[in-house]
Amino acid sequence: MSKPEKFFDDKGLRLDGRRIDEIRPMKIEVGVLSRADGSCYLEWGNNKVLAGVFGPRELHPRRMQRPDTAIVRYRYNMAAFSVEDRIRPGPNRRSTEISKVSREAFEPVVLTHLYPSAVIDVFTEVLQADAGTRTAAINAATIALADAGIPMKGLVSACAVGKVDGKLVLDLGKDEDNYGDADLPVAMTQDGDVTLIQMDGNLTQDEFKEAMELVKVGCKQILEIQREALKGKFDQFDTEEIEEETVAEAPKSEVEIDETVEVETEVVETEEEEVVETEEKVEEEVVADDENDEEPDENTDDEDVEEGETNE
Ligand code: UDP
Repeated sequence: MSKPEKFFDDKGLRLDGRRIDEIRPMKIEVGVLSRADGSCYLEWGNNKVLAGVFGPRELHPRRMQRPDTAIVRYRYNMAAFSVEDRIRPGPNRRSTEISKVSREAFEPVVLTHLYPSAVIDVFTEVLQADAGTRTAAINAATIALADAGIPMKGLVSACAVGKVDGKLVLDLGKDEDNYGDADLPVAMTQDGDVTLIQMDGNLTQDEFKEAMELVKVGCKQILEIQREALKGKFDQFDTEEIEEETVAEAPKSEVEIDETVEVETEVVETEEEEVVETEEKVEEEVVADDENDEEPDENTDDEDVEEGETNE
């Protein structure tokens, strides 16, 4: 791919038709991996990322455990087929660095002190990369953590801002990332506290301030999408429960009613037997209690005597 001749058209729109303060379309699916405690599949433009959370679970080897807190491990990995040129499988300098800074992006929000000696593992896998994969992975990881029920002070949202042809733009596309003047990935909490900031290229102080304002707008938009995704997941649970209740209460067909009557009759019989048995047991227990009642009185007297003796 070569450098585009210009990054903006006559209307000031970008190569993919976006405005300078517009993020790429984002789609989030929650709970996509059955073996993970929490998971998320996220598409952002042409990025496709999967996140899985495992834990909190006991950390092994035990010598790594922290008695006062859980530790969070974060893995960012790009699939070999995720980019144009195949990537050699396994960790490399770039993925190690991204894993480290992304873990740190969650440090201030995950309530690790609630799980001493435990570990919370976050795995992010980039299946298709198209610029902004570290921020995409963080956005997916937040949802996976929430899906796993990990207590957090709030969600983390991440987005990059950059400079292209002297203009600040939100959420860099591939060409903007490759041939732009600056790239600034940022993650922040829902309260606007920055938990990750990196910078590639140069910005003046004023540009930096403006860039931070712009990226705040992007993170807010992403937070809304994340919230909607989580709400969708939990609303779905509510609906499923309501549906189950409705099915249980709904009038049955004639055949079903007959079957139900038989079953209910059996249940009634069982209940009657149980009632009789229970009554017998109660009677036995009452008799036993009556017999036992005498002993505690004696004991109480003994205790009184002992207490009296002690007091004297
Ligand atoms: N990229 C690539 N090969 C690599 C690393 C990155 O083709 O080994 C591409 C990929 O599309 C990635 C983009 O370059 O999204 C920008 O990479 P960068 O290191 O800036 O991280 P990102 O923006 O993805 O967080």
